[in-house]
Amino acid sequence: MSAARPDAVSAWIGLGANLGDARAALRAAVASMDALADTRVLQVSSLWCSAPVDAQGPDYLNAVAHLQTGLPALALLHALQAIETGAGRQRPWRNAPRTLDLDVLLYGAERHGTPALTVPHPRLAERAFVLLPLAELAPHLVTPEQRAAVAGQRIERVADAPAWLGGSD
Ligand code: ADP
Ligand code: MG
Repeated sequence: MSAARPDAVSAWIGLGANLGDARAALRAAVASMDALADTRVLQVSSLWCSAPVDAQGPDYLNAVAHLQTGLPALALLHALQAIETGAGRQRPWRNAPRTLDLDVLLYGAERHGTPALTVPHPRLAERAFVLLPLAELAPHLVTPEQRAAVAGQRIERVADAPAWLGGSD
């Protein structure tokens, strides 16, 4: 674990996987994020299971992690993409099933508006699999209206944190 700089910001990362051993992939991703330069994982949500949105394929496992990082936002995204690649991530088509997806949901109060990095994440408020785990860690970041808007989406909490980060199921 590397120490984050004193001026580090809070970043909120959405984790998802629906191919292979998804739970192991998310667990490994948390460890990899904690090992990034100037970065610490402060909190991890419960593990959630959700139906694919706008896509076919197996159900997803999802979680949200709260990082403290001194990496600039784009450097953090690139580091997350390297972790995805290391987990065997391929991008055959849009919304394809994936071994690991790491999205920057929020990066402090910063706003970014390029195709390569849009923060807050543009679909944050549309997806129960982001809002519910985020609300577990940071209830103030999710409004009742946002919760109500995703109430029809199929999602269930399947394991408590930090138990799901342990070695056994
Ligand atoms: P998905 O949007 O389904 O997560 P990908 O993970 O393949 O799809 O990401 C597609 C592109 O989205 C990447 O090339 C990345 O640069 C871009 N992107 C823009 N904003 C973000 C963000 N906040 N988090 C992660 N990727 C982002
Ligand atoms: Mg992504």
